[in-house]
Amino acid sequence: MPEGDVLLRAARRLTAALADEPLVRGELRWPAYGGLDLAGLRSLGTVSYGKHLLTRFDDGSTLHTHLRMDGTWRVEHAPGLRSRDRDPNVRAVLATTRWTCRGYLLGMVDVVRTRDERDLIGHLGPHLLADDAEEHVPAAAAVLVTRAPATVGAALLDQTVAAGIGTIWMAETLFRHRINPWRPVTDLTVDEATALLTTASRLMLTSANSPAAPGTRGSVPIAAHGREGRPCPRCGTPIAVGRVGTPPQDRPAFYCPACQPR
Ligand SMILES: [Zn+2]
Repeated sequence: MPEGDVLLRAARRLTAALADEPLVRGELRWPAYGGLDLAGLRSLGTVSYGKHLLTRFDDGSTLHTHLRMDGTWRVEHAPGLRSRDRDPNVRAVLATTRWTCRGYLLGMVDVVRTRDERDLIGHLGPHLLADDAEEHVPAAAAVLVTRAPATVGAALLDQTVAAGIGTIWMAETLFRHRINPWRPVTDLTVDEATALLTTASRLMLTSANSPAAPGTRGSVPIAAHGREGRPCPRCGTPIAVGRVGTPPQDRPAFYCPACQPR
């Protein structure tokens, strides 16, 4: 599932592509909005909030999209690629004369008044990729430690605690702090939880703001996530994987059994 760093990059791409001209096409392939035509509207920019995207328009409306598991926004400089609109996985098309943004396999699509955006995202904890995220981390940490009986791994994934972390940044954050994903949240101090959320915020922002290379997200080296059976970069023990959270919402958690003991 795309995480906060990927969503911030997507928001920047959409903002840049739609900045200069009104939409020449704006279509939503979504049951509630089949007849809605967004052509003629001007984008005021797209922002991310956790894993959500908010594209604001000059008529006071906001298009809300969420990628869920498999969604993606692709931005292409090619008015000639109209045949791609017929792809059955396309859920949204926002196009100017120069750029076409297609949302594939989007998991949520809503159109609301911009002033009502809180109805969609008000239940979420603070956005960990905001410019002022670290100001809001202590309050989120105070919530995190109350989420018994959750484990630390599951609580970091809980978007109502703090918004943006997925399985990659949960694993990488806990690895860096040598904390076992199955430790009960009630066993953490607020200072420890603050340190975890601060690290997650910084890792995601670094990832979003720097170019990727093999084995990295942005310039952040990936130590644990997706490396089952490969040596821990700190101690050489093979990285292991288990599940955190309650089925069917359980998710994989990669960790070093030696550096992050139960
Ligand atoms: Zn290790």
